[in-house]
Amino acid sequence: MPRCPTVLLVLLRWMHMHLWARRWRCRAGNNNRLPLCVQQRWAYFRLMVRSLYYNSLTGSDVIMDSLMEPVFWMVDLMTRWFGPVFVGLVVVLTSSILLIAYVGLLPMVLSTYSLPWIAWHIGYGHWNIVMIVFHYYKAIRTAPGYPPRVKNDLPFVSVCKKCIIPKPARTHHCGICNACVLKMDHHCPWLNNCVGHFNHRYFFCFCLSLTLGCVYCSISGRNLFIDAYGAIERFKHTDLEKSGIPVTGIGLLIGILPPGQSTYQTPAPLYTFRDKIFHKSIIYMWVLTSTVAVALGGLTIWHAMLISRGETSIERHINNKETERKAKRCKVYKNPFNYGRLNNWKVFLGVEKRSHWLTRVLLPSGHAPSGNGLTWDLYPIRKDMMPV
Ligand SMILES: [Zn+2]
Ligand SMILES: [Zn+2]
Repeated sequence: MPRCPTVLLVLLRWMHMHLWARRWRCRAGNNNRLPLCVQQRWAYFRLMVRSLYYNSLTGSDVIMDSLMEPVFWMVDLMTRWFGPVFVGLVVVLTSSILLIAYVGLLPMVLSTYSLPWIAWHIGYGHWNIVMIVFHYYKAIRTAPGYPPRVKNDLPFVSVCKKCIIPKPARTHHCGICNACVLKMDHHCPWLNNCVGHFNHRYFFCFCLSLTLGCVYCSISGRNLFIDAYGAIERFKHTDLEKSGIPVTGIGLLIGILPPGQSTYQTPAPLYTFRDKIFHKSIIYMWVLTSTVAVALGGLTIWHAMLISRGETSIERHINNKETERKAKRCKVYKNPFNYGRLNNWKVFLGVEKRSHWLTRVLLPSGHAPSGNGLTWDLYPIRKDMMPV
């Protein structure tokens, strides 16, 4: 009989567990018995949420790119909006230098320089102006080239995720233009245009001619700048002397000399207002052209180096990565679009015979570049190459 309460207790515990298990099974059964349409919608919602962040290639680079995406978007937007402002700035600054050259310097050159120097300055200066204006206008107005949007049989290396069109070799998507660009180099805010297959030469020749023009102004105007700087310093001393005149009494309030101090009157100014403007213009011109010569000169040398290698700015990064990747496998990567230094320049400038060095390089020329930008001489690209 003493065992009776223990058996009863065990029996009660078993019944309790059985009841809980039954209730849990009922709950599970109720979930499964949700209406089919609700289950489908729930599954669709879960799939949709997962698809927002799921990527089989997700890594730290993808996460960083995703985090930086708003910054890139803002930069693209600002560049697009301020494009016309940058173009206006180039036009205004260049025009101001031309104004100083024609109004201030040319009369002085004609009246004081010898005939050979006059011929040099007029000849070289005007050639340089024509080259700058022509290439800038063509770089702005020439479309860089876009791949076809209709169905075609042209070879391609990848598909643009944004345009959803096949991308030929050397084509890249520009976020600012919101289009794929053939042989894209970069988007230039100073042109408010992409630099691509059809306007790359105009862009480079503009950079080169503007650099040459700035170097020419900087070297030619060096002595004028030194003189003007000295004159400006003398203006300051003259102003200080003027402000040092003793003024007392009512003169202190109204700013005129007292009657007894007429012998201390300021001497007549050595420089007229026109002289001051001239000297300040010379200083402005020299500082601006020297600064641009250094900054743009560096950019021009960089692009000249890329052209010598048969690369664009974007391909430079891709080729560097590919070179490193191949080096790890003890292999050497060779750029398939590098035809040799001289040939690269000939292809880039469109030089097909000797006379073209004069007619197409030294003189303004609107000839089309070699090829159509869709297919390239070394096509098809090797299979192990990264899509570009
Ligand atoms: Zn695209
Ligand atoms: Zn662009």
